[in-house]
Amino acid sequence: MVKVGIPRSLLYYQYYPMWRKFFEELGAETVVSPVTNEAILLSGSSRTASETCLPVKIFVGHVLYLANKCDCMFVPAVRSTGGKIYNCSKFLGLPDITRAVAPESPVILDLEIDLSRGQGNFLKAVYALGNHFTPDRKRIKAALEEARKANLVYRERMVSLKLTAVEAIGEESRNGNVEAEAPLSSCLTIAVLGHPYVLHDDHLNHRLLSRLRTMGVEILTAEMVEQEKLNAAMVRLVGKPHWTFESDIIGMGGYCLEKGVDGIISASVFGCGPDSMMVSVVRHRARELDVPFLSLSLDEHASEVGIVTRLEAFLDMIRRRKRICV
Ligand code: SF4
Repeated sequence: MVKVGIPRSLLYYQYYPMWRKFFEELGAETVVSPVTNEAILLSGSSRTASETCLPVKIFVGHVLYLANKCDCMFVPAVRSTGGKIYNCSKFLGLPDITRAVAPESPVILDLEIDLSRGQGNFLKAVYALGNHFTPDRKRIKAALEEARKANLVYRERMVSLKLTAVEAIGEESRNGNVEAEAPLSSCLTIAVLGHPYVLHDDHLNHRLLSRLRTMGVEILTAEMVEQEKLNAAMVRLVGKPHWTFESDIIGMGGYCLEKGVDGIISASVFGCGPDSMMVSVVRHRARELDVPFLSLSLDEHASEVGIVTRLEAFLDMIRRRKRICV
């Protein structure tokens, strides 16, 4: 059975159930790298320019981990997932970056996804990808359909059960019946904004989400809210979107500010151009509405103690405002 390597990084958190279904339907097996650790981060950093953003360095580290454990590596170039909305340039060049810095990687399956160029273009790219496993176009189309269904179930589960992406993927692999980790006492509701690959990589963010839960916070992340609501809130705040992650960050921020939360935490990575623009829109709106807003900027050198101190101070301040006993 052909083994397809899937780095546990970047778009893994959004699309893994869909990708796995697609490859399984074509008779392949997926091999996923482990959760990020220091060795993975260091190996990725050693191959990339220092100014490269942290998630891409981590991605390269995952590719290097998988290099001798699979027959091919899935590295899609996701240009646009619809309309005239485009991804950050790092995603567009990801297969080329990977080839250049990780030459020991096995064959790279570099599906280009650009839905702004229409469904026909997308199908052509999917057939080219499926052709690595079978020349049977009907089988490839059926695999695509099954993958779409798996994606819908995955997304629906995160919304209805208020699960994070990691919990939903874990729940799926254990065949259901796992609920979201409950906070110790949920007296505060905090929206956490950021790219899924920042919020769900515990090594990158120093266990931000689980730490907040143990501090008695009910967390809300973008995957727990229906996409239509995020899109509508984003349009109300900035009008026409341009970036892929605008609904996750601006839309989620706008939605939570309208709905009412006790505070907002944004987790972004140092040097990310799109984040610097998107986060400032939400921060500005939060200030207008007098909603506490904490911005965390993460890089390889971010200190865990520093993050904990800032979280504690932020939550203490909100509790005092609400006159909740600490
Ligand atoms: S959006 Fe930002 S964090 Fe994500 S890949 Fe692009 S530069 Fe890196």
